[in-house]
Amino acid sequence: MAEVESFQLDHTKVLAPYVRLIDVERGPKGDAISNFDVRFVQPNANAIGMAALHTIEHSMASLIRDRIDGMIDFSPFGCQTGFHMIMWDEPTAEEVAKAIKGSLEELASDGFTWDNVPGVAEKECGNYRNHSLFGAKEWAKKILAEEISSDAFERKIV
Ligand SMILES: [Zn+2]
Repeated sequence: MAEVESFQLDHTKVLAPYVRLIDVERGPKGDAISNFDVRFVQPNANAIGMAALHTIEHSMASLIRDRIDGMIDFSPFGCQTGFHMIMWDEPTAEEVAKAIKGSLEELASDGFTWDNVPGVAEKECGNYRNHSLFGAKEWAKKILAEEISSDAFERKIV
């Protein structure tokens, strides 16, 4: 069996919310791709409901790209506690955490409405009925209130 770094992490030792660099991979021409663990809630203590998680995913796809260059993907963990964020090059966890924080602030703001959530029509999404902007905003507020760390094991608030 291949060893997968994400499963080597001791999920009982981390302190969410946080951003953690999982690893950097290099292509044959030296291009770097960085994989981040963006953990919004404490593992095995809480989990984001699927509809809210889905709307966070869609919203963050554009909100993060407004704030940092080089994002390839932002996809939810099956455990519903956060997201994988795949980036070109080697941004720091602090840079990523600041972009996430700013994105959640906009998501939580009154000015952010359904008109700002991309891809929620039937032809744009594989389960367009399963969205909750209310839930996404409530989770964004909770994550921001708990503050985002650029370290998984000690609190380094950005
Ligand atoms: Zn979707």
